[in-house]
Amino acid sequence: VTRGQYFGGMEAGGTKFNCLVGRSPDEVLDQVRISTTTPAQTLQRVIEFFSPFVKAGEIGSIGVGSFGPCGLVPGSSTFGFITSTPKPGWQNTDVVGPLRAALGVEVAFDTDVNTAAFGEFTWGATIGTDPSLYLTVGTGIGGGLIVGGRPLHGLHHPEMGHIRIPHDRVRDPFAGTCPFHGDCFEGLASGPAIQHRFGRKGETLADDDPFWQLESEYIAAAISNYILVASPSRIVVGGGIMQREFLLPMVRQAVVRLLAGYVDHSAVVHEIDQYIVPPGLGQRSGMLGAIALAGAGNHERRRLS
Ligand code: ZN
Repeated sequence: VTRGQYFGGMEAGGTKFNCLVGRSPDEVLDQVRISTTTPAQTLQRVIEFFSPFVKAGEIGSIGVGSFGPCGLVPGSSTFGFITSTPKPGWQNTDVVGPLRAALGVEVAFDTDVNTAAFGEFTWGATIGTDPSLYLTVGTGIGGGLIVGGRPLHGLHHPEMGHIRIPHDRVRDPFAGTCPFHGDCFEGLASGPAIQHRFGRKGETLADDDPFWQLESEYIAAAISNYILVASPSRIVVGGGIMQREFLLPMVRQAVVRLLAGYVDHSAVVHEIDQYIVPPGLGQRSGMLGAIALAGAGNHERRRLS
């Protein structure tokens, strides 16, 4: 086996770390799901998973998509870190450093949603679609934008879950759960927001519960804003809450209603079903995006050398 024939990919989440070795959706050597405990313990288990593949010369680089906020500026002291997360014990955690030190491989690093966006752009629902947007609506809410074939970073990285959306406090008196903003998009529409609002998990709400109309309108309000700001050519919407399959058609209808004919493109006006779509890679957008990121890093280094 030639060194670097496969790539390591890791999706670092608040409840689990999904790790994978492969080189495409159809060529996966191994994968594992590790529970998120303390940083030291979790990263040690990640290292133990990847180590045999590195020693065998099967992987020479690893891509990491992480929950955030993340340090993404190469050369800065917090590059490769999870920074100001509200998750206890994980503030200012170096993720890339320990992997690099223990495994001796290159580690590419990005946010979980940028990585998922890159996975969908490489193999999923937005292949070659540029710019394209990946939005996840679940325990957290976040979005990644692909612009010019790469995830958009900018000053820091986009935080699409924390935008302000209209909140009618008569219709929805709930104050929101975001520790920073209260009733931002994530504060109103994430899994924890639903759980706090009703005292039970969203999974237990019936399909015909009137709340889903409100939820779909919150998601649509955010998507309408992303369309107006970034004009993506296609939008993928994933995440745990979107597992309720009746939601996406409701979101599409509300987006059309909110844009009110102003974005006069057939994608929105006539082909919204192909414009706002579920992930092409199912639950694996992040993991596969991570190996795509590891591979893209390699290509960049080759171009540079
Ligand atoms: Zn917020």
